[in-house]
Amino acid sequence: MFVDLDRFKRINDSLGHEVGDKLLVEIAQRLRANLREDDTVARMGGDEFLVILNNLAGPDEAAVMARRLVGALRRPVQIEGRELVVTTSLGISIYPDDSQDANTLIKHADVAMYRAKDEGRNSFQLFEPAMNARSLEHLALETALHRALPRNELLLHFQPLVNAADGSLVAAEALLRWQHPDLDLVSPADFIPLAEDTGLIVPIGEWVLRSACERHLAWREAGGAALRMMVNISARQFRDEGFVAMVGSVLADTAMPPECLTLELTESMLMDNTDRAIARLEQLRALGVGLAIDDFGTGYSSLAYLKRFPIDELKIDRLFVRGIDRNTRDAALVAAIISLGHSLGLRVVAEGVETLGHLKVLQSEGCDLAQGFHFSRPLPWERFVEDFGPKA
Ligand code: C2E
Ligand code: MG
Ligand code: MG
Repeated sequence: MFVDLDRFKRINDSLGHEVGDKLLVEIAQRLRANLREDDTVARMGGDEFLVILNNLAGPDEAAVMARRLVGALRRPVQIEGRELVVTTSLGISIYPDDSQDANTLIKHADVAMYRAKDEGRNSFQLFEPAMNARSLEHLALETALHRALPRNELLLHFQPLVNAADGSLVAAEALLRWQHPDLDLVSPADFIPLAEDTGLIVPIGEWVLRSACERHLAWREAGGAALRMMVNISARQFRDEGFVAMVGSVLADTAMPPECLTLELTESMLMDNTDRAIARLEQLRALGVGLAIDDFGTGYSSLAYLKRFPIDELKIDRLFVRGIDRNTRDAALVAAIISLGHSLGLRVVAEGVETLGHLKVLQSEGCDLAQGFHFSRPLPWERFVEDFGPKA
């Protein structure tokens, strides 16, 4: 049996590796407690465990065991006064039916585990030969993503951020797209998790930053109005030891005025090892770049930390903006975030402004900037320049 925790990375990223380690110990103990004396359990690395069950009457008995393990691992865990619930996905291969070779058996159990994840996690699957084809697809996407950068398949779209009071252009957010040769334009939601898991986000993220700064240089040379570039940074990039130095050299290479660049970070990436995160934010500040918290309100929104983070800007997640013209609770929440931001001396941006109704509420609450389909969808650079550039 191949056992893998669901979304373990999220726990590590948001609560820190110490909590992650304690969770792994607890999970290992539960595995042991639910197995028989002559069964074997081993940790393969990360959040992956391998279980060998001896002397089974047949596949049905393996399924009974699997159901028991998935159920036992799902029970809440108490760590440092916090109650965590993690689920697991489990794949089963059977000797000698699925293979007579140990490595192949493990590989097949792994493939079955991936199928369990695809089917919605928190469950188990028995290996079937047809699954091999599907895991090849998974592998093919990963291989394709490896080639995306050298083959120039990545591109950026740009979405304007405007002054909420008068609609004038203030900034542009760079949003990544992938033109896979055989697919439609792939959205970041579909490949950034894969890029993070494989570490490819580090070179891809550098490419994004460099390209956005190069566009800005072209914009300035064409005589465009003052414009800030907003660039999204992922947790994996931010943790990378070379990150600050990389930002510094991109700024230098592209002659980018640092005050024209704002990096968008998320709350969860600042909650893992907060002191180190603050030190890193200070180093970025020393370069002169701006810092924004993206998707504000969807993570921990810890006010104690917010006060300590040296940031300039809050971007309210579109989840909260969606209902503000119809729902008084949503409106009250957004009003509270805006005044919270202002009392900390931060600029506040509303994301997902889709209608005039949204905008009116935001204006009356004194929101600084607005971004959303009401003004423009993210556009290819040429279209962005046409619509908002010097001659527009
Ligand atoms: P985000 O940073 O919160 O970006 C805003 C997302 O909201 C974009 O989705 C944008 O197209 C969408 N959006 C903008 N206005 C509206 C609106 O009025 N209504 C609705 N329903 N949606 C709106 P997109 O481009 O699919 O990007 C999704 C996420 O992928 C981004 O969320 C960001 O977290 C991530 N991402 C994008 N580019 C990069 C990148 O270069 N690096 C990293 N690490 N992440 C990126
Ligand atoms: Mg963003
Ligand atoms: Mg956002």
